[in-house]
Amino acid sequence: MSYVVQAPPPIAVPVLGTNAEFPVHRIYCVGRNYAEHAIEMGHSEREAPFFFCKPADAIVTAPYGVQATFPYPSASQNVHHEVELVIAIGRSGQNINAAKALEHVYGYAVGLDMTRRDLQNEAKTQGRPWDTAKAFDYSAPLGPIHPAAATGIFFAGTISLTVNNVLRQNSDISQLIWSVSEIIEHLSKLFELKPGDLIFSGTPAGVGAVHPGDLIEASIAGLGTISVQVS
Ligand code: MN
Repeated sequence: MSYVVQAPPPIAVPVLGTNAEFPVHRIYCVGRNYAEHAIEMGHSEREAPFFFCKPADAIVTAPYGVQATFPYPSASQNVHHEVELVIAIGRSGQNINAAKALEHVYGYAVGLDMTRRDLQNEAKTQGRPWDTAKAFDYSAPLGPIHPAAATGIFFAGTISLTVNNVLRQNSDISQLIWSVSEIIEHLSKLFELKPGDLIFSGTPAGVGAVHPGDLIEASIAGLGTISVQVS
């Protein structure tokens, strides 16, 4: 195959315990999926899950034991961290029943849904899309994928984030409003899920601003800690 312009490189992320990588197809994200975070964003009612997307090339690979770099984005003065459990899809499906959803999961990772909060607030006020707030370059730092065969199912476990060693977010996966299985059920009614899809499952309370020079450390029990330096 020849192309009329330079073809983009394939996007793939490391998988723990193997030299083979996980090829990334799409990135879906769930909004407001922890009650305390929904409240801090000004919402109190339980609502059906809603979704937005990031481009696959927004990923910043964040291996364990190495400081990855997150370049502070242009056009924002209020960039927030959001630590999230990321679900890696291994098998395609549409209209997946929650009871069968975990059969479609390849594995899990720690991710950051970096957000231009000022642009998001403006978009909400104006009724505009969130793309510039959520889908910017380098907006998805991501740790290695752990095969579900090794981790088991994620029903519970501490999810936390520090900035410069100060605890900002600290919750538990059991506090997800919509569980991993329920997220897959809802999302697969809207899109056909494909191997290589990633789903950022939402962030707990405690989101806040970062600045150039800050060190973000994001952890999920059973997965590990990723370190991301804001530059
Ligand atoms: Mn998020």
